[in-house]
Amino acid sequence: MMRTLYTAQWVLPISSVPIRNGAVAVSGANIAFVGAMDALPADWHGATRIDLGVAVLMPGLVNTHTHLELTAMRGFLEGLAFRDWLSTLTRARRECFVAESLYDSACAGVEEALRNGITTCADTTESGEPLAAMRDVGVRGIGYLEVFGPNPSQCDDAIRELTVRVAARRGHDTALVRTGISPHAPYSVSAPLFTAAARLAESHQLPMAVHIAESHAESQLVRDAEGPFATALRARQIDVTKQARSPIALLEQCGVLRGRPLLIHAIQIDQRDVDCIAEHGATIAHCPISNLKLGHGIAPLRELRAAGIAVGLGTDSVASNDRMDMLGEARQAALLAALRQRSPDALAASDALRLATIDGARALRLENRIGSLEVGKAADLAAFALTSLDAQPVHDAATTLVHVLAGAQHALLTVVNGEVRVRDGVLLRSDRDRESRMHALGTRLLQWRATNQTTAPVS
Ligand SMILES: [Zn+2]
Repeated sequence: MMRTLYTAQWVLPISSVPIRNGAVAVSGANIAFVGAMDALPADWHGATRIDLGVAVLMPGLVNTHTHLELTAMRGFLEGLAFRDWLSTLTRARRECFVAESLYDSACAGVEEALRNGITTCADTTESGEPLAAMRDVGVRGIGYLEVFGPNPSQCDDAIRELTVRVAARRGHDTALVRTGISPHAPYSVSAPLFTAAARLAESHQLPMAVHIAESHAESQLVRDAEGPFATALRARQIDVTKQARSPIALLEQCGVLRGRPLLIHAIQIDQRDVDCIAEHGATIAHCPISNLKLGHGIAPLRELRAAGIAVGLGTDSVASNDRMDMLGEARQAALLAALRQRSPDALAASDALRLATIDGARALRLENRIGSLEVGKAADLAAFALTSLDAQPVHDAATTLVHVLAGAQHALLTVVNGEVRVRDGVLLRSDRDRESRMHALGTRLLQWRATNQTTAPVS
């Protein structure tokens, strides 16, 4: 079995205190030792050693919300109001992409993740291509297949079709990449479809994710049967009635919360909703930058964590972020927490890093396997260099990672399940032809926009 010893000036196990001059020993796919170099068992002295030098070595970052197939849409939807943003995205995806280009786009997204030290992606996808991309490029992940259908009359067909898609994708699941489902959101999924999707998840033991409580317009639709989503649905001859006191209450009514889903965004929630989420053991993908960029608001992170709910961080798609940088996401979470609570220590850098690692793993129910450096867990590792003068001096490695290195550099090393994917910010394996195909796709999108009035930014 392949044995490799990684050493660095700082090792951050997350589940225990930072180690100066630390070592992580990896045997095959698993971690065999974490500790100070001085304490390394003698039989590891002869192993292959990768000395990262002046760097911090930590568990791989866990991104709890991506749309990898939209990677080619970075910067494409700038400045659009949410409903126009959604409809333009949906039309452009339908008219400019085929399965191969969605696959390329997803692969480019996985490569970006790996370069940024991300070793797990929880991806919601319409096409399912990201499942193949995650498997082929080599990242750990869950691909939640989306189902849509705001008209209750579509429910049976939608579930039948989803069941077929699940069966087709699930046959290719591996120890690293797993298929799930995602009834999309209250403005795109009817109550009967939510109920049916929850039953499907339960009977097939599928992980489930839902976009929920994201916009004010969504709450208006669910609670009051009013607002822009209600108007748009009525224009499609779909009956709109008051459904529940809140989007979270709607999920509870439909039996979705019983399946302990991953709740994406969860911004428009009150204390009753928080208690309800905690009671059911559902988890959260907190996406601070996307929530800010689309103007949706700030999720009540403190209340969610105080209730004992597992909260991870997600970048969302690059069409709403526009980066896939988990350290940047951790920094934004800390800054927003400080602002919201009027306190500089509302979310310490070490806690922000927990959100980006072990708490993200808990949110995906993978905490027994990943999220911290512990003997027996999978060797999913990320390292970042501290050699730049801009990164010095280092008083606390977590603070440097979150507040100094965020967005400033690629990973020095990324390891997934014991396999090295990135060294010095460079992927060890990549498809050069994909680059030119991605450029061609970008050109195609620009041409599409030039002929489509709906993409004009709202003023
Ligand atoms: Zn999303």
